[in-house]
Amino acid sequence: MHKFRVAEHKTIHVDGKDFLFLVADKAIFEMDPSTKGILADWGSKRDMTRKEALASLGALCAEDRDALFQGLLQRRVLIPARGTAPHAKTVGACPVSIPLKTLILHLTDTCNLSCRYCYYAERGRSTGRKERMDLNVARQAVDFLVAQSGGLEEVVLVFFGGEPLLNFKAIPAVVDYACAKAAATGKKVNFALTTNGTLLTEEIVDFFQQKNIGVTVSMDGFQEVHDSCRRFPDGSPSYALILPKVKHLLQQARQRPVAARVTLVKDPGQVPLILDHLLGLGFMEVGFAPVTTGHPDYQLRPADMDRLLEAFQDLAQDFLQAAQEGRFLGFSNLIDLLVALHQGEVLNYPCGAGLGLFAVDPGGRLFLCQRFTGDEQFCMGDIFRGLNQEKLAEFRAEAAISNKTDCQQCWARTLCTGGCYHEACVREGSHLKPNLHYCDWIRRWGEIGLEAYCQIAATYPDYLERLCRSRGYRP
Ligand code: SF4
Ligand code: SF4
Repeated sequence: MHKFRVAEHKTIHVDGKDFLFLVADKAIFEMDPSTKGILADWGSKRDMTRKEALASLGALCAEDRDALFQGLLQRRVLIPARGTAPHAKTVGACPVSIPLKTLILHLTDTCNLSCRYCYYAERGRSTGRKERMDLNVARQAVDFLVAQSGGLEEVVLVFFGGEPLLNFKAIPAVVDYACAKAAATGKKVNFALTTNGTLLTEEIVDFFQQKNIGVTVSMDGFQEVHDSCRRFPDGSPSYALILPKVKHLLQQARQRPVAARVTLVKDPGQVPLILDHLLGLGFMEVGFAPVTTGHPDYQLRPADMDRLLEAFQDLAQDFLQAAQEGRFLGFSNLIDLLVALHQGEVLNYPCGAGLGLFAVDPGGRLFLCQRFTGDEQFCMGDIFRGLNQEKLAEFRAEAAISNKTDCQQCWARTLCTGGCYHEACVREGSHLKPNLHYCDWIRRWGEIGLEAYCQIAATYPDYLERLCRSRGYRP
């Protein structure tokens, strides 16, 4: 006898409307009164047969009861008690066939800053390795990207480091080569670059404009905050040096909006002021990330994380206010969450690392992502001989969220998917472990995101489409 049960869910109440978030499907919709009544009635019940379920639909005629039952099955509010099929939007179930979408080129292993929290500096570098990528390796990396991209029409090449502008002279030649290669194969290459801003010049900024390169600047906020960690090796601060350069970049940015990436080390209560400051300079978006370090001096303490959540909650309110007025507030963390909810893809992995994304070191070796570059354990082959398929298959099999027992009962699992491998490596001792140090935080942030999502969906739903388009998703 087939039995049914109500799918794992969360209800969200905003502006007098009730929404349902189906956890396993990462799907959200507004509930009509009948669905609401049924959930209230069935929510605490054990598995039911179809007959029992129909009988509990009360006063409706038989036809309406049947239609309601079928509708709930279709929306997967009601699911078979055993053996549920994965949702149609599940991605990454067969990762071996995933084409390469993004390649991160470590143009150099060196950096002219010596930021106090830098994961790169903290890990240390092995000696005797090549520190700067030469043009020959960079071209072969482009060949590798295009060859491994399968049927994708667009791929992404990211210039990264160390500080990639220390090897700026390689970039124009790589860009020209990649454009020619892409044109010959009917593809398009999108370029991105992350810089600390210290080496920006008018010539470099012009080049970014001409070649439509998306730029992210690592900048931690106003002078006092920025200079507390982002310093040169001799200890001198960097804010005053980068400010006019960054202003010039932002003034010239007509092709692609420029984003700032903030590493949070202390005093998260300053986050709204930092956002104001950086948006005031002209950044389109600002993303915040607590520093990932095992160093107790820089790690945010639990009380700091609470303050960060309060700050994010306030910013979510500001974001909603802006959306209501048709404005845009470039708070990347919330935008990323809203876009992920709207896209609704159920992922088996927390990010693209080791799937459609790899990083290449100056010598041509391939790593899971930029944060693992140089660490032998996470080397997945090289651009000359290709990916180490055996090692990669092992990683993909082990890293899937289905192996993270702690996450299986968590309502936020389709939002978090266990979290960043690098953070897990640093904080939990293995990249394969879930990031259990921040579960409560993630769940509370997930609730803030869901409420914001429902609020926008209830009042100005087109705004969600616009956000998705700003992230390159097409309707
Ligand atoms: S790491 Fe924590 S918050 Fe994330 S899915 Fe696992 S249990 Fe949930
Ligand atoms: S492992 Fe972490 S740092 Fe690397 S791509 Fe994934 S989320 Fe980003």
